[in-house]
Amino acid sequence: MSAQIGVTGLAVMGANLARNLARNGYTVALHNRSIEKTDALLAAHGDEGDFIRTETLQELVDSLEKPRRVLIMVKAGAPVDSVISQLVPLLEPGDIVIDGGNSHFEDTRRREAALAEKDLHFVGVGVSGGEEGALMGPSIMPGGSRESYDSLGPMLEKIAAKYDGKPCCTWIGTDGAGHFVKMVHNGIEYADMQVIGEAYDLLRSAAGIEPAEQAAIFNEWNTGQLSSFLIEITAEVLGHVDARTGKPFVDVVVDSAGQKGTGRWTVVSGLDLGSPVSAIAESVFARALSSQRGQRAVAQETLKGEEAAVELPETFVEDVRQALYASKLVSYAQGIDMLNAAAKEYGWDLKLDEIASLWRAGCIIRAELLDDIMKAYAGSEAPANLLFAPAFAESIAAAVPAWRRVVSVAVQLGIPVPVFSSSLAYYDGLRRKRLPAALTQGLRDLFGAHTYNRVDAEGTFHTMWGEDR
Ligand code: NAP
Repeated sequence: MSAQIGVTGLAVMGANLARNLARNGYTVALHNRSIEKTDALLAAHGDEGDFIRTETLQELVDSLEKPRRVLIMVKAGAPVDSVISQLVPLLEPGDIVIDGGNSHFEDTRRREAALAEKDLHFVGVGVSGGEEGALMGPSIMPGGSRESYDSLGPMLEKIAAKYDGKPCCTWIGTDGAGHFVKMVHNGIEYADMQVIGEAYDLLRSAAGIEPAEQAAIFNEWNTGQLSSFLIEITAEVLGHVDARTGKPFVDVVVDSAGQKGTGRWTVVSGLDLGSPVSAIAESVFARALSSQRGQRAVAQETLKGEEAAVELPETFVEDVRQALYASKLVSYAQGIDMLNAAAKEYGWDLKLDEIASLWRAGCIIRAELLDDIMKAYAGSEAPANLLFAPAFAESIAAAVPAWRRVVSVAVQLGIPVPVFSSSLAYYDGLRRKRLPAALTQGLRDLFGAHTYNRVDAEGTFHTMWGEDR
């Protein structure tokens, strides 16, 4: 018996993907650097399908049908290069090496180019949905050559999450496109969580609504425009009571958020591409600030806030919902704008409707909204910005009055809402007829002769400042 796919790296993600493949009828060869994980997986789940136990990469390669497909699920970074360098001498032209970890897309581009020289396919695959998604059906974003997708795609589509029966997996584009799209997904996920946090803070600190009561509010929000996995689990977390103390769970957790890097990568890429992903950037910075616990402790004693007394509008809870919705839309618009910029820069033909479609199930940012985003890009004329799609232009306009009220209440009460406020600034920045960038250009021309364009003539101009002064 030979296996249709081999998996090396059997920690939680690799093990669950291997089980998912086996449960879907594929024979899966298993390998891990240390044999214990392989044996633990076989002991616990060996009866779920056809597995082949291998102890070395040579055995793994020998157990595979040709062209071989080897899925690498080891720790991202140097371990992936190490496994690739051990695998490559064992493979033959036409074989497919797949990296399903959270690799940086530039690494994927480099690895793809290096393996292509040896006539090997290298496929960087973004996998979203965490451990449960890997087992039950993740959202899958494969890059690499179209040819490799013809061989690999049917397997990936079979194990992917389904939305209305349609697999949440499609070929994204060449080389690092899959990992890029997964990175942006994670960036949006950061912003999605931050706007939920800002809404929670406002409801609690401005309106005094306790977590249990907020759980009911989030549950209700989950039935409308905001319906999504993250809103659903927010209700669950806010409703959870700590068994040890009887306090709301959220009150016993240290208020300092960690990160593994994909949010930061998204922001760095946004800067590289000149794409204004301010909502995502503010989300990453908000986590960074939360982690500066030493400075925060000093600031609580030394920095004065001069908060104003504010009478909340009667509509406050609904206002917060609308501000959350509008800010969330902006973060999706910025993420998609960045995909457009990357498509131009890297020569990818990204299909935004298909990307929105495969985020509708299996992944962390799955949301009703994505169905409408998919429809916005499905027509022949894609909007230049998500917010210009008629349905979204209308729904965000409807939220603007509430959005402004919420941001101004937050500012007066000293409640930080970095994504609510920066998203509103982005929205207003896009709409504004004249931006102070004209003055910036003037300053740049004065101190650095950087030149400027005029509103009333073609060409590039420079003013002889010394002479004019
Ligand atoms: P992980 O903790 O990132 O990595 C552990 C695995 O990597 C083990 O199998 C380990 O082997 C292997 N490994 C580490 N260094 C190695 C080396 N130099 N050579 C060979 N093998 C090496 O595992 P994970 O959490 O399952 O994640 C796997 C990938 O999926 C990562 O890229 C991660 O970012 C990504 N991902 C994770 C999640 C999640 O929810 N956890 C979600 C999406 C994507 P040993 O057992 O021998 O130490």
